[in-house]
Amino acid sequence: RRAEFAAMRDLPSVTADGQRIELMVNAGLREDAQALDLVGADGIGLFRTEFQFLVSATLPQREKQQRLYKDVLDAAGDRPVIFRTVDIGGDKALPYMQRDDDELEDNPAMGWRALRLALDRDGLMKAQARALLEASAGKILNIMFPMVSEPWEYEQARALVEHQREWLLSQRKKVPSGVRYGAMLEVPALAEVLDILLPKLDFLSIGTNDLTQFLFAADRAHPRLAERYDWLSIAILRFLDRVVRTCEAYQVPVGVCGEMGGRTLEAMALVGLGVRRLSITPASVGPVKAMIRAIDAAELQALMRGLLDDGVVDVRGALTGWANERAI
Ligand code: PEP
Ligand code: MG
Repeated sequence: RRAEFAAMRDLPSVTADGQRIELMVNAGLREDAQALDLVGADGIGLFRTEFQFLVSATLPQREKQQRLYKDVLDAAGDRPVIFRTVDIGGDKALPYMQRDDDELEDNPAMGWRALRLALDRDGLMKAQARALLEASAGKILNIMFPMVSEPWEYEQARALVEHQREWLLSQRKKVPSGVRYGAMLEVPALAEVLDILLPKLDFLSIGTNDLTQFLFAADRAHPRLAERYDWLSIAILRFLDRVVRTCEAYQVPVGVCGEMGGRTLEAMALVGLGVRRLSITPASVGPVKAMIRAIDAAELQALMRGLLDDGVVDVRGALTGWANERAI
């Protein structure tokens, strides 16, 4: 079906009943931006800025970061790019970042990583904020923070970026025409405080890789656990359903940027929950777009509501049956 997916490239990502589903890609390297044209995506929904840090022998200087961000924005043209601030620490340790022995962690995924580390080592965060702001001069900067666990962490990160923006203005330097702030929801606790967080946000992005790891208390990299829990488990879907409906109530756009959205049936379930933005691996754009163009979103949403309300355990089976009946 490769030819079929290739032909799909220039067709819009719209369901049979006219619902627009934004299909974006996950990226991390300069070259990844080319994939946008290749697969016909709407933008970059997750740019993992830590990749540059991980492949460097030394801490990338601000100018070097800025050059990367500008190249990515140029390649994306008028399509949006959502930059995620560094998600390092944990299992993504930097060889050049010194750690004391007493900082060694038993559970690095739940340790001093991502925004936790960035807020503590705020020199790193300030440099990155400056690089992102300067690279986006005259354009919209979409920035989001990883592993937000409590609203104050988001607020502190946002204030830090705003402070850099004000400093640039005071120096009569060019700044972005607008900054849109987002948080990643990958720590379950954050879902309980969305009423506090959402009024302060421009968008929310659900990272289902870490979220499911923390929901099931199951290491996302553990081979024995890889197949044990299903992304289509009713626990995950009910959780996501609540988050999506809360975002709708607060009129905050919500997307999913974990690997879950790159699998066709899982993506179908997400659309059935009301998710209208997916950021996925470039190779999945063709198959997922084909699915989106074939489905009736209203019918699918009614089906999902029934499955969740009735506590149907085999959602995978039910969705597969529904898709097969409609030759999707
Ligand atoms: C996630 O956790 O789902 C996510 C998108 O971020 P990463 O895979 O980089 O941790
Ligand atoms: Mg994550």
